[in-house]
Amino acid sequence: MFPSFTLRYARLPGRFFERFDPVPVASPRLVAFNRSLAEELGFDLDAFDREEATVWFAGNVVPTGAEPLAQAYAGHQFGGFVPRLGDGRAVLLGEVTDRAGRLRDIQLKGAGRTPFSRGGDGRAPLGPVLREYLVSEAMQAMGIPTTRALAAVTTGERVMRGLPEPGAILTRVAASHIRVGTFQYFAARGDTEAVRELADHVVSRHYPELGRLSGNERYLALMTAIQARQAALMAKWMGVGFIHGVMNTDNTTVSGETIDYGPCAFMETYDPKTVFSSIDEGKRYAYANQPWIAQWNLARLAETLLPLIDDDQERAVELATETLQAYPARYESEWLAVMRAKLGMEREERGDEALIEALLGVMQEGHADFTLTFRQLCDCARSSAGDTALLELFERVEGIEGWLERWRARLAQETLAPADRVRRMRLVNPLYIPRNHRVQQALTAAIDEDDFAPFEALLAVITQPYEEQAGCEAYTLPASPSERVFRTFC
Ligand code: AMP
Ligand code: MG
Ligand code: MG
Repeated sequence: MFPSFTLRYARLPGRFFERFDPVPVASPRLVAFNRSLAEELGFDLDAFDREEATVWFAGNVVPTGAEPLAQAYAGHQFGGFVPRLGDGRAVLLGEVTDRAGRLRDIQLKGAGRTPFSRGGDGRAPLGPVLREYLVSEAMQAMGIPTTRALAAVTTGERVMRGLPEPGAILTRVAASHIRVGTFQYFAARGDTEAVRELADHVVSRHYPELGRLSGNERYLALMTAIQARQAALMAKWMGVGFIHGVMNTDNTTVSGETIDYGPCAFMETYDPKTVFSSIDEGKRYAYANQPWIAQWNLARLAETLLPLIDDDQERAVELATETLQAYPARYESEWLAVMRAKLGMEREERGDEALIEALLGVMQEGHADFTLTFRQLCDCARSSAGDTALLELFERVEGIEGWLERWRARLAQETLAPADRVRRMRLVNPLYIPRNHRVQQALTAAIDEDDFAPFEALLAVITQPYEEQAGCEAYTLPASPSERVFRTFC
């Protein structure tokens, strides 16, 4: 049933990881399984055996051909450098080649205390496992690069997080789990050979087109390529109001996938200063800071690559700095492309950025819901019959009325038929997102009542984000004052 494992990471030098078998759990139960992802990964679903799957996803039995390990990495956490973090509770079983021929990591998160666990228990509570499952699958459905959720099991054991909570394990799938922090781990030890080997591994895995470049050139190009993916990723996050919450360098992939859904959340009322995470006391990772934090993280990556970029370190710094300085323009252009599409604008015009900023300004003043505003604008693009419902989203309507006029004048410069425009806009403006109170309700039902029906219902809705689904209107609504989630916890 399980596709066969490739052991690319396990064949890298021994100092890249610690061999570690998952620690078996008391009584595993499979509570979620992603059939379409399993199919994509090459699982033989005709041979699907629930009991076998359960013991695998629990880590109680290691599938044939896997060589479980915990990856070494370092990281800047909230700006402070920690030279040795590593997988404290995650175990990489190995990679599989999916049906499209891409290598994908299979990792068990919450699989026991590894040599990197420090004070931690190596386990994961059910709530965060289900949150990661829901949000990562929603991101995927919205076309945002992300790690995936293949399965979730409960362990039959309790984990202590203040109060005892049911334990769980998430099977996470990623293009790779290599992070900026993986590079930092070796750079901090002055192990340039390991940095080079890691960089070459990343090139062959994620940027094979750079493999033909020789020596120094390849590593600067790698930096540029990773930067391009991060810029595109940030634009996509911003376009759906996603707030990651813990953008530490160990939570920044070099593949450009979103990783590590901890206290993440989606913004409802538009406010660029929004922070949900209870651990982000300095508001470092607020919504509007994210693109610039990504740039800061990329600068940390660049530092690790300096010895490979040029033998002359002064020259290397010059080259890396030039590359980093290209980030703002790159991000701005990605962001403009995302926002133009959301507003139904096909061509690029001079005043577009000002027009977009003006909308965000009136949304902020009018306390408008981010997701519903853009979704309702799809109707407004058809005719002014949609305007009433749009205005209802705003506590103050002065600004938005004037803005609608400007926007319509701008759209009139294009030839696209309104019906086509509406169709295209609906494909980039989700109706259903994992609203925080809905996620919370799904988690609470599973934790307190062992009732997974709300989780399943929510998952079904948010993995079809663009299509209106009968009977699902309640999922589109922002939290009422009593439902509102102000803080999220990892
Ligand atoms: P995170 O905040 O999830 O990005 O994790 C930061 C670091 O803490 C990583 O090295 C994790 O492996 C480690 N960690 C988080 N939770 C636990 C846990 N329950 N037990 C052991 N290590 C953990
Ligand atoms: Mg080792
Ligand atoms: Mg992490």
